[in-house]
Amino acid sequence: MTPAASPGTSRTEHAPAPPAAEKDSIVIIGAGLTGSLLAVLLGRKGLPVTVFERRSDPRVDGAERGRSINLALSARGLAALQQIGLEDLALGVSLPMAGRMVHPVDGPPNLQPYSADGRHAINSISRTLLNIELLNAAAETPGVELVFDHKLTEISLDEGNVLFETPAGEKVIRARTVFGADGAFSTVRKHLAERGGFRVDVDSLGHGYKELSIPATDAGDFALDPHALHIWARGDSMMIALPNQDRSFTCTLFWPRTGPGGFDRPATDAEIGNYFAEHYPDAVPVMPTLADDYRNNPIGSLVTVRTWPWFAAGKRCTAALVGDAAHAIVPFYGQGANCGFEDTVALSELYDAHGPDWPAIFADYQQRRKPDTDAIARFSLANFVEMRDSVNRRSFRAKSAVEHAVGRATGGRFKSLYELVSFTTVPYSKIRRRRAAQLAGIASGTVGLVGGFRFLRTWGRRRRV
Ligand SMILES: Cc1cc2nc3c(=O)[nH]c(=O)nc-3n(C[C@H](O)[C@H](O)[C@H](O)COP(=O)(O)OP(=O)(O)OC[C@H]3O[C@@H](n4cnc5c(N)ncnc54)[C@H](O)[C@@H]3O)c2cc1C
Repeated sequence: MTPAASPGTSRTEHAPAPPAAEKDSIVIIGAGLTGSLLAVLLGRKGLPVTVFERRSDPRVDGAERGRSINLALSARGLAALQQIGLEDLALGVSLPMAGRMVHPVDGPPNLQPYSADGRHAINSISRTLLNIELLNAAAETPGVELVFDHKLTEISLDEGNVLFETPAGEKVIRARTVFGADGAFSTVRKHLAERGGFRVDVDSLGHGYKELSIPATDAGDFALDPHALHIWARGDSMMIALPNQDRSFTCTLFWPRTGPGGFDRPATDAEIGNYFAEHYPDAVPVMPTLADDYRNNPIGSLVTVRTWPWFAAGKRCTAALVGDAAHAIVPFYGQGANCGFEDTVALSELYDAHGPDWPAIFADYQQRRKPDTDAIARFSLANFVEMRDSVNRRSFRAKSAVEHAVGRATGGRFKSLYELVSFTTVPYSKIRRRRAAQLAGIASGTVGLVGGFRFLRTWGRRRRV
């Protein structure tokens, strides 16, 4: 037990008797990707940290059915993992995807590289595996304690009490500093919002998601090219597939919940088979468990969360939001986890700058991160249209080809939006400005080239005369 908290303390109905408050105690709610990375970064500064997670330990129990999710990990996430020495380990258990493989309804799939040189890749990694590696790193960090099967139910910033539901009953602990790393449907956020002065918008996409699977072939090979992110773009909806280390692929359907092309339409095995044969004909032969997966796997929700401010201070306790709890985004740029990891790096840097003045840290943190998370929220929504529709269009492919040609001609100085988001750590909010500067540079370069070419032509003519 760290001095940060006493999770074993029980609370009686009428007279809660929490343990004495501890100096500089830090409590993190949620041992997902963001919470566990934050625990390592703070623990390594010598701070006592206790992480409370409502689920049981995924290192023992693994992932829930239909919620395995493989993530595209890219430059920002890797830069954060590098800070705790996990970058190489993460890359070692990922598969690089250098482009999107677009599967039309008829005709062969076509590969669209993500970068001008065709070599930059995003990395497919199992979310559960990455979470387990982060939990292992947290467990190995002196001063960090992980407590599972503790669901936060209430938090009082004035009393400094944090209440949990556990298999053994209700428990209460005391804390001075609390991080809500409890995901898109955050309970910490709900309690901060109840204090007033908070604005929280949770926008649900009309589409949900459902996981399916493509197993390895009988010969033990990948059934599709493992170096690409596969997309079956169907206008209003799509299916994607990302490769796994065991040579399977995790497919995700992004479909409307109801109506034409919606999850409520195909119901029987025959209807499911017929629907997929019509819309995803080249995938059906490699999906032997299709009907079973479709019927049994849950439909997940996709939300964009915008909230302000990101922290609140009471008489005894200050609490801040981090990761999806502060800014969940739709997954179409593959940036949710990457962006949450950037939050933790920002917090770590601000702690180094301010020392343990958490209100000052949180004030700077929200100012620094909010413009970036708003920007990536917009890019992510826009990229849904690109993924489910534009990738099929000739005009889109031509635009990408021109951007990549300009990238090569400028020795990599010009970067497409996708490259800036996925292969750099340029703050998301500065990307638009950076693109505008690039385009202005190209325009003036083009004017200069055209002017130079005209001068040379005129000069040549005069000499010939
Ligand atoms: C289909 C899909 C595909 C995605 N693809 C990508 C991708 O390619 N790249 C990418 O970067 N991101 C991707 N994401 C986003 C990414 O999964 C999230 O951004 C990331 O998991 C957020 O991490 P987090 O730790 O903030 O929240 P979460 O991962 O949601 O973790 C929150 C944790 O808090 C716990 N918790 C919740 N409530 C309580 C409570 N009351 N008490 C205690 N514990 C609690 C939860 O059990 C959980 O462990 C994708 C998301 C989805 C849905």
